[in-house]
Amino acid sequence: MASIFTKIINKEIPCYKVAETENCLAFLDINPNAEGHTLCIPKKEIDNLFDLDTELYSELMVFSKKVAKALKKAVPCERIAMSVIGLEVPHAHVHLIPINEMKDITFRNKKTFSESEFINITEKIKACF
Ligand code: 5GP
Repeated sequence: MASIFTKIINKEIPCYKVAETENCLAFLDINPNAEGHTLCIPKKEIDNLFDLDTELYSELMVFSKKVAKALKKAVPCERIAMSVIGLEVPHAHVHLIPINEMKDITFRNKKTFSESEFINITEKIKACF
C-alpha cells in the first residue's frame, strides 16, 4: 500500500508545500514541534533514509539544506535542527525544525496552527528561497 507521503506526492492528500524538485518534496509537518516544522522527502517511496542510493540520498540532503536556509530566514529561531526518525511513516524523510532550546526537538511539545496560519508560514518560507 502506498505510504501517506506517496499519497501526498500524488495529490491524493493535500499538504502545505514549501518546495519541490523532480525527485524531492518539502511540506509542513501536520503535527509540528514548532512553527515551520518541515518534512523533506524523496518522491521515491523507500522506508529507511539510509537505504536510499547515494545519489538520491545526496540530492535529498542538498535539497534539505536549501529548505533549511529558507526556513531560517522565515522563522525567527536560534537554529534549524535536522532529525531523522521514521517510526510513524515508513517513507524516508528529514525533519527540519526551528529550535531555540533542546525541548523543541523532543517531539513532546506539539504546537497547533489554524489552516490560515499554516498557509501564512508556507508563504513566508517560499518567499525566502
Ligand atoms: P516519524 O515517522 O519521523 O516518526 O514521524 C512522521 C511525521 O510525519 C510526524 O511528525 C507526523 O506529524 C508527520 N505526518 C504524519 N502524517 C502526516 C500527513 O498526512 N501530513 C503531514 N503533513 N505530516 C504528516
